[in-house]
Order: sequence, then C-alpha cells, then structure tokens
Amino acid sequence: MEGLSVADAQRCILETIRQLGSEEVPLQQALGRTLAEDVQANRDQPPYDVSAMDGYALRSADVTQSPTVLKVIADIKAGDLPTCTVQAGQCARIMTGAPVPQGADAVIRVEDTQALTADTVQINVPVKPRNDIRDRGESMRCGATILPRGTELTPGAVGLLAMVKRAQVAVYRRPRVAILSTGDELEGLDEPFDANKIPDANSYALMAQVQALGIEPVLLGIARDRPEHLREMLQRGLQFDALLVSGGTSVGVHDFVRPTLEQLGVQMKFWGVAMKPGHPMAFGTAPLTWVFGLPGNPVSSMVCFEQFVAPALRCMSGLPRLYRRTLNARLAHAIKHRPGRSEFVRVTLRQEGDTYIATSTGAQGSGILSSMAHAEGLLIIPAASNGFAAGDTALVQLLDGTAFQSSPAGE
Ligand code: AMP
Ligand code: MG
Repeated sequence: MEGLSVADAQRCILETIRQLGSEEVPLQQALGRTLAEDVQANRDQPPYDVSAMDGYALRSADVTQSPTVLKVIADIKAGDLPTCTVQAGQCARIMTGAPVPQGADAVIRVEDTQALTADTVQINVPVKPRNDIRDRGESMRCGATILPRGTELTPGAVGLLAMVKRAQVAVYRRPRVAILSTGDELEGLDEPFDANKIPDANSYALMAQVQALGIEPVLLGIARDRPEHLREMLQRGLQFDALLVSGGTSVGVHDFVRPTLEQLGVQMKFWGVAMKPGHPMAFGTAPLTWVFGLPGNPVSSMVCFEQFVAPALRCMSGLPRLYRRTLNARLAHAIKHRPGRSEFVRVTLRQEGDTYIATSTGAQGSGILSSMAHAEGLLIIPAASNGFAAGDTALVQLLDGTAFQSSPAGE
C-alpha cells in the first residue's frame, strides 16, 4: 500500500485543525500575525480637501487662459487651518498636504508658475477644477471597515493600523510547537563528537522551518528508542498545540512512536503518504494537540513539514493562505519517475526572459540534506507522471518563506 495521496493527507489534516483563540498584541509586534477583529476607520483621512502638490490654490475659472497673473493672499503649510477665502483674481501659496482654503477649487504645482513679486504670481497653464486636490476621506472614511478579520498583517496593514491609532490589536494566537527527535543513533548538538553517530539535524531544520513561519518552537531534545523514555518525552510534547516528532515512524522493530502515541491516547488519522521523499508520514490528534509523525530522514522530514505542517500551523494561526506559492518552471534536464508516488525534487530557479528554469540541486537521496540546503523550490512530479523531458513545464513550490497561496499545489 502506497498510502494516502498528498492532497488527501492535506485534506485529512486540515479537516481537524481549528484556528486558535485570540490575544491582544502591541502594534510593534503585530507584523505577520492575523487580525482576529474587523478594524474600522476612526476618522476621515485626509480630514479635509488637501493639496497634492507644493503650488498655489486658486479658482480654476480665473485661469482658463494662460498666462494669468494672480494676487497671493496667504501662505498655507501642512497643519495650518486656513481662515482666508480666495476671491476672484486671488490665490494662496500652499504646501503638499495643507488644507485647500475656502473659495479655491484647484491647485497648480509651483513648476507651472512664476513668482513675479512677493505677492503676485503668474500662472502659466490652464487648470481644471479639482486639479491636484486630494479629497477629504479619499484614503479612508470614518466608520468604514479598512481591515477585515483574517487579514495577514503586512507592513502596509501595520501602517494602516497606526493610521487608525490602534496601539493594540486582536490577533489569533500563534500555536505553541514542540519538536522531538527520536533514535538511539542520534548525537545532540551539545553532545561530544562521535564519528559513529548520526548528528540530530531534524530538530534544528524543523526549528528553522517553524521559525520561518514566525513561530518560536520548543526543542524537547532526543528521545531514545526505549518505550519508557519515548513515552515520557511524547507526554511532554502533548502539552503543546502541535507536536512534531521525527524518526521512529516506520515499521522497524525499534519504531515505537506509533504504539506509544496510541497508548497516550493519540488518535492516529493516517500512517503513510504516497510521496517521495516522505512516505512514513503520520498524523494524529490528541485532546490538546495535533501530532505530526515526520520521517527520520532529514530531507523527508523537511519536505513533509512543507506539505503538511506549515499549512496546519498557518491554519491554527488564522491565516487565510495556507500553501506555499507555486509557479511554472521549465526543466533544464530530464527527470525520471515511476508512477505511484508524488515526488518533490529540490531545485534552484533562474529566470530567462519571462520563463523560470528549474535545475535539480543534485543527488536527491532522502538523507542528503545538502539537496535541501541549496534548494529554492520543490518541483512536483505528480504521482501518475512518467517523468519529464528537458524543456517540459512543471510546477515548483517556492521555499522562500514568505509567499503563500490559498490553494494546494496543482489544484
Ligand atoms: P527512522 O525513521 O527512525 O528509522 O530514521 C530514518 C533515518 O533517518 C535513519 O537513518 C536515521 O538515522 C535518520 N534520522 C532519524 N532522526 C534523525 C535526526 N533527528 N537527524 C538526522 N537524521 C535522523
Ligand atoms: Mg529511528
């Protein structure tokens, strides 16, 4: 049995995931979070008609012919509240952002004028009504919803929140994530060097993948392949919103993860996905925790993280777009594939004209972490494919960390 398809496994996971509750954060910490409330404008912006240019506020009817000479009756800066009224034959010197005075219906930019004396100016071109005036409420209207619940807070959205004076905003809580590695053969980063051991790369690669989503995970360390030790460590992990446990998920005699999780009351939803790398991917739910059983091979665990864990963590965070952004790329070389499992080939991308060209990062073994370290994207070979020829077009999932889309790859 090859296991579930990638799409079915994603659906199975996301069907069980709920967004977490909300919390208030200071605006300074809101970047990348998801709004948990609708935010309304608390004022008209701009609060009155303002000049879009440094120039002169005038009556357009006075300057239908050019050149025309007008008398300058006032000097208006941004922040001033002018009291003058511009009468026929008059104008006011005005700065960008300053309120347009009574009587004036247009602004001419200074470049199209010539000062004659201290209080007369020649207008060199005709001006249409409303020229270079930004209307009151043009950028927002008091009471209008400017950011709906579910908005991902980009720098622009943070700016908008400042504009409506939101020093605190309600955002969805970020998941608390625990990471556990398993295996007697593993050597921790802080343990003495032993050439016969396998360095624990997964804890840190997964940590970085979680951090790339803006979440600070907790590393639980390494559980040894002994049921009691594994049980104790897994129990600790079940206090978190999400537990990522790598290794020990296959069917070897020392792969105790599954039976131990089940003893701890985790309800396993699936075990095995028809993908390469990443076949021994598993998922289950506990009362407090979503549990991801990731393959031990470092590349497999990272690829599975991208397909299953990242969308789930984003969903918990209330984000609307769950999946890595994809683009079409042309293959620089042929890629062999036997129908059966979806395959994720680590590639680099370069642009030629308006086409992206994908090149494999080299040997693609599931333990060869350098293939991932140099990758800019994951090229997707659909399960039914017979492989690609050089020049064929294929879908590539970007790994750049910030770009997400709402539909899964290939849908
Ligand atoms: P397992 O699923 O436990 O049989 O592990 C599959 C392969 O991945 C084995 O070669 C393990 O040594 C390796 N592996 C498991 N966990 C890690 C880890 N945390 N870091 C690096 N390699 C690992
Ligand atoms: Mg193991």
